[in-house]
Amino acid sequence: MSNIENLWLLQQHYNKLAEIEKNLKEPSTLDKIKKLGVVLKNTEERLDNLHSRIKNKEKTLRKNELTLKELEYKLKEIEKKLYEENIADINQLSLLDKERERLKSDIENLEIESLETMELIEHLKKEYEDLQNNFKEYKIEYTKLVKEHKTLMYEHEKKARIERKEIKKISSSIDADLLRKFNSLIETKKIAVVKVIDNMCSGCHMILPSILLDKLKRNDDIILCENCHRILYLP
Ligand SMILES: [Zn+2]
Repeated sequence: MSNIENLWLLQQHYNKLAEIEKNLKEPSTLDKIKKLGVVLKNTEERLDNLHSRIKNKEKTLRKNELTLKELEYKLKEIEKKLYEENIADINQLSLLDKERERLKSDIENLEIESLETMELIEHLKKEYEDLQNNFKEYKIEYTKLVKEHKTLMYEHEKKARIERKEIKKISSSIDADLLRKFNSLIETKKIAVVKVIDNMCSGCHMILPSILLDKLKRNDDIILCENCHRILYLP
């Protein structure tokens, strides 16, 4: 194989390696993983929040039940006084009656409040359950994505190793000075060898002078583009 053919081949492998390295640096899977990670974290926070709300409401409910028992006891005591004791004092009777009405009203209000709290707890529990199911699904998806990501990275790394090996192999068959020139172009311009397409350098899109094109057609000498200084390859 001629020098230029070898250099062109070497360039192809460098291009492939650059593509693989780009995929390794910015893998398509990582973005999805990050997004889902945020969703998972938010869902977990919402679950924690719902859990403490349920616990608080249950505490309120227990407190209300105790208060309710106390009020009912007081009411019974008052009713006992009203019906079983023979109180003749009108004022005292009126006070007891008022107290009884007040207790009845407090009990009723508390019962309504307890019912509402119970409904709210039920509602929150349902919300928690639904969210927990979502969380489980997200987690399964997340694990799957991470696995896919690892496989993908492994594949990319494997491909990169193959390309590096090829680059080494081809490089060893190229004249040292030429290889130095090629490598310095790779370092500065990333692409060292460019195709001539329609009499044009595909590296910088300059129309090439006909003398240069003739030279390219005649032999396999290494010819550089006068504008971008890359090595020209005429297929
Ligand atoms: Zn050029």
